[in-house]
Amino acid sequence: MKTVLILILCSPLLFPQGKTQKAHVHGAAQISIALDGLKGEVEFEAPAEGIVGFESEARTPAQKKLVQDALSILKNRGAELVIFPASSGCKLTPKEVDLHREGAQHAEVHAHYALVCSKPITGEIKFGATRLFPKTREVTVTFVSDQSQKSAKIVGDAGALKP
Ligand SMILES: [Zn+2]
Repeated sequence: MKTVLILILCSPLLFPQGKTQKAHVHGAAQISIALDGLKGEVEFEAPAEGIVGFESEARTPAQKKLVQDALSILKNRGAELVIFPASSGCKLTPKEVDLHREGAQHAEVHAHYALVCSKPITGEIKFGATRLFPKTREVTVTFVSDQSQKSAKIVGDAGALKP
């Protein structure tokens, strides 16, 4: 019952939108991949509830550790979050990983990576957000390159996006 209530309170209709107009839905995340030639950017954004497990300010040592652990997973395991086909030799380098407040009640986790591939991506891109963060069930992915523009909804890491 508690989960249902939280979902309703966080629905995009009731929660004031930030300047980026993105929805804040607990358990959901957004990944955007932008590629220009062999170089690009990957951005991950999700309500902290699905990543850290809470959105209040981290006060206790245990809460601070949960935040640190989650951010270090995003820093060090980007290749498990967005899984590029091995043949394309893509590498993700974290540029910025942070947790920021969204109003008084909510918090968002954001990770920004530089992407460099050694060959054009010809196979499928897969995702491991749920494996890394089990409370994050659903990821909306957008892919934009000089060749194509695609989007996909990935639930429980099932499915893939073919550029
Ligand atoms: Zn929230």
